[in-house]
Amino acid sequence: MDLASHIRHVPDFPKPGILFYDISTLLAHSDAWRETIDRMAEAIRPMQPDLLAGIESRGFLAAAPLALALGKGFVMVRKRGKLPGRTVSHAYALEYGEDVVEVQEGMIEPGQRVVLVDDLLATGGTASAAVTLLRKVGAEVPGAAFIIELIGLGGRARLDVPTETVLQLE
Ligand code: 5GP
Repeated sequence: MDLASHIRHVPDFPKPGILFYDISTLLAHSDAWRETIDRMAEAIRPMQPDLLAGIESRGFLAAAPLALALGKGFVMVRKRGKLPGRTVSHAYALEYGEDVVEVQEGMIEPGQRVVLVDDLLATGGTASAAVTLLRKVGAEVPGAAFIIELIGLGGRARLDVPTETVLQLE
């Protein structure tokens, strides 16, 4: 199945000059979405995860069904201030300013193998911050998986874990 044809290209979003790859059209097509999750599940299985961690918010959409398909738990990596109770944070630099990713304390046991999942890998800034956060709470990170990889932005090189992607776009 040609999954790339189910990604909508939206020019000038969220800012003029940016081309946004919209997965809404992939999610809305049940066969294409099922095939996406099946392919990601087969790529992640050999990483032998105990848990899958999804990055807010589109990462949740893939990580939750993948966790069910693989019979593993799902944990949320969220932006600052969204998770209740005690959290562990990691701040990372953006082009202008900084952002913070968090997980709830006690969701991940030291030594657990946690595979990171997000919708899209661009520069790799978000994913590498999430890997650092997962390691901060004692996780082993045997790999990361994304629906889309924007090749040419260097995200894969920025990640120091095996990286699987379903669609590679320019
Ligand atoms: P990075 O940190 O690798 O530069 O950017 C990846 C993050 O930004 C991911 O969390 C992803 O959801 C979001 N993102 C950036 N550009 C796009 C895009 O064109 N489409 C989608 N769906 N997400 C994007």
